[in-house]
Amino acid sequence: MAKQKENKLNTVRHSLAHILMQALERLYGAIPGVGPAIENGFYHDFSCEHQVSEDGLPKIEKEMKKIIKESLPIRKKIMSINDGLKLLKKKKYKYTEELAKELKREKQTKITFYEQGDFINMCKGPHLKSTGDINPDAFKLTKISGAYWKGDEKNPMLTRIYGVAFNTKKELEEYLKIMEEAEKRDHRLLGQKLDLFHFDEQFGAGLPLWHPKGALLRQIIEDYSVKEYLQNGYQLLRTPHIARLELWKKSGHWDFYRENMYSPMEVEKEKYVVKPMNCPGHILIYNHRPRSYRDLPLRFAELGTVYRFEKSGVLHGLTRVRGFTQDDAHIFCTPKQLSEELVKCLKLGLKMLKSFGFKEYDIYLSTRPKKYIGALKNWEKATSALKYALTKNNLKYQVDPGEGVFYGPKIDLKIKDSLGRAWQCTTIQVDFNLPEKFNVNYINEKGKKEQPIMIHRALLGSIERFIGVLLEHFSGALPLWLSPVQVEIINVGSAHRQYAKSINQQLITNNIRAQLSDENLTVSKRIREAEIQKIPYILVVGDEEIKNKTVNVRHYRRGQENEIKVKKLIEKILREIKERVV
Ligand SMILES: [Zn+2]
Ligand SMILES: [Zn+2]
Repeated sequence: MAKQKENKLNTVRHSLAHILMQALERLYGAIPGVGPAIENGFYHDFSCEHQVSEDGLPKIEKEMKKIIKESLPIRKKIMSINDGLKLLKKKKYKYTEELAKELKREKQTKITFYEQGDFINMCKGPHLKSTGDINPDAFKLTKISGAYWKGDEKNPMLTRIYGVAFNTKKELEEYLKIMEEAEKRDHRLLGQKLDLFHFDEQFGAGLPLWHPKGALLRQIIEDYSVKEYLQNGYQLLRTPHIARLELWKKSGHWDFYRENMYSPMEVEKEKYVVKPMNCPGHILIYNHRPRSYRDLPLRFAELGTVYRFEKSGVLHGLTRVRGFTQDDAHIFCTPKQLSEELVKCLKLGLKMLKSFGFKEYDIYLSTRPKKYIGALKNWEKATSALKYALTKNNLKYQVDPGEGVFYGPKIDLKIKDSLGRAWQCTTIQVDFNLPEKFNVNYINEKGKKEQPIMIHRALLGSIERFIGVLLEHFSGALPLWLSPVQVEIINVGSAHRQYAKSINQQLITNNIRAQLSDENLTVSKRIREAEIQKIPYILVVGDEEIKNKTVNVRHYRRGQENEIKVKKLIEKILREIKERVV
């Protein structure tokens, strides 16, 4: 039922794309490119003499509403390919004509057109029965941009207008509200405002440069992760950023993953590549000496930085980058240990995400893709072990058929942020294949060589993306335990400077990240500045506070709090850090 409703909405969105094109043709004699339905709406590409800009969108929207009001019947027309081509030529629809010619070359004999009033264009459909079937209050044109014909920069640049559309006005308004909120929370803006990181053209696209506060935030997250690993029986490893090309040929990455890898570089006639993954290094460490069943499971963890090629067009702040650090680990275990290891992995992942304030997830179990290596029997074993781990952790999940990696099935966990958006985060993958390629083994109880199973897992995913999500989730106001600056102390006048300094020192001695404010600004300006920086605690000290050995407390979320003795405040802050209060 839900699916049917979704399909109907797609038809509405596609019909709106045609109505948009019809309006553009009426107003400016525009020539159509393509115009599909997309997630949450639609777009249409076109070219025209008239320069259409953002300001012109209301006028186009008005014309679209007029077309809806005209209740034009939408008629499907099947034509012979030659008649269709003639029609497109007459209408000077050169882009559509090009597509029709391709269909002719593919030996298609008939093509479909859709007609509504004065507008007709080639289209596969489906469409609504009438333009009047659309709710004129449930759509909106949102933006305008350039788009190369067929996405190829050698082709002419067309104009693209995007719109969003829903069933009801209420749904549209809710969506627009979320988008507006999301814009305010955009982690790229917050990264600037809070002085955490920036991207620099001189350094390269998709490669974030971390400023002091951002680097500290990373360190806090990494320290926490390492502490959890050590408490859960992991050992830490470190492997370099480049490795010989031969290694990636042996691992199969060069065959199956090359499009994401950077070109090799030559060092003393030997080819090297920057690592897209940490796995082969961990395997070499495992293989460095003989292993017995008594050694297993072995859990090797590394906050490993990897580099993967992404087209510049898809790069997006910290959430799509070209170099990032995975909270990566590889677990080597016996086939008997597999299920329990997966249960533990998932449990640790959920615990960590919860301490960052995430409690809602979308979980997917991805099964064997078309392009795969390894035995079918092993794929089945691994898939059922993953199902076991999900059930044991009482998790609801969806099966994503064919979405597994080439070397094994996997669990993906997407966290839901405060706006209900889902972000890919935890991944747990079983791999029967790399152990085979590298001849990984252990001596079993009977003194015979046996192959262990390898689990790849990243719990937070990429530290970069995770920070991006955290910033958007909390709108930049990080929980106390994560805030790079936890406390700012503001002395009212120079007479209170000494007192402020002594409090600062007491806080720092207790491992609380405190700082003194910039005395060159007025008190109200300093308070405002600390609030812009979303610092959890602002302490103001003047005559009264010195007399009472107290501080005046303002909390970012809770607002003005009572005057409190310094000692009591330190206890309170330490407790809130320990309990990871949001
Ligand atoms: Zn169409
Ligand atoms: Zn791996």
